[in-house]
Amino acid sequence: MKAVFFDLDDTLLWDEKSVRTTFAETCLQAEKKYGLDPQEFEEAVREAARELYMSYETYPYTVMIGINPFEGLWSNFSEPISEGFQKLNKIVPEYRRNAWTNGLKALGVDDPAYGEYLGEFFAAERRKRPFVYDETFDVLDQLKGKYELLLLTNGDPSLQKEKLAGVPELAPYFNEIVISGAFGKGKPDASIFEHCLQLMNIQKEDAVMVGDNLNTDILGASRAGIKTVWINRTDKKNETEVTPDYIISSLHDLFPILEHK
Ligand SMILES: [Mg+2]
Repeated sequence: MKAVFFDLDDTLLWDEKSVRTTFAETCLQAEKKYGLDPQEFEEAVREAARELYMSYETYPYTVMIGINPFEGLWSNFSEPISEGFQKLNKIVPEYRRNAWTNGLKALGVDDPAYGEYLGEFFAAERRKRPFVYDETFDVLDQLKGKYELLLLTNGDPSLQKEKLAGVPELAPYFNEIVISGAFGKGKPDASIFEHCLQLMNIQKEDAVMVGDNLNTDILGASRAGIKTVWINRTDKKNETEVTPDYIISSLHDLFPILEHK
């Protein structure tokens, strides 16, 4: 075992908490202004965002790269690295505005100007909330020097770089950082994992992939013949056909696995 490949969101960074608290703060604004129930409003906006996102011609591209509708609510797609990102960059202001405006409408409020305000409020608030798990740096400190480390994340390169810039201590741990938008295909495509092996100049037997998402991290790595560790902090049920080699509930549980191999 020479290398550990890590997913970023909800493996090292606590993205779920960032998104949840940003929604809560934004929906609180709408409660104050229009008396909307924050939970109901969040659900309405999430639904409106999903629906809109899937209606754009860029949808198949975002699926291939691995960018979900909620990333689009604060991503600017500002690197014109492909036709897909150029299109997304043009679409995204309208997407943000309409997602929030349609969410308001679903609860009987017709106020596009306020929808636009909330869209920008959400994006700004999300940027203030870069959460990291307590264990992240402790575990990386112990791995550093013993293993080569690679970060493999799906997403918009401009946004993933911004997330990393929000926690500047993180990036220096990694020998390589691979972002699907820059590569051109996302997890679970085997090609991006093969690209990672090539970058590190190692064989598939030499690496292990650690990630929270069975359908991307675990499925993709197993397709490429790389051993997989599913980090399942919240005791989620595995409702997929994907079988990870190891399941852990804390990153600290990685050490016995690595030492045993
Ligand atoms: Mg993840």
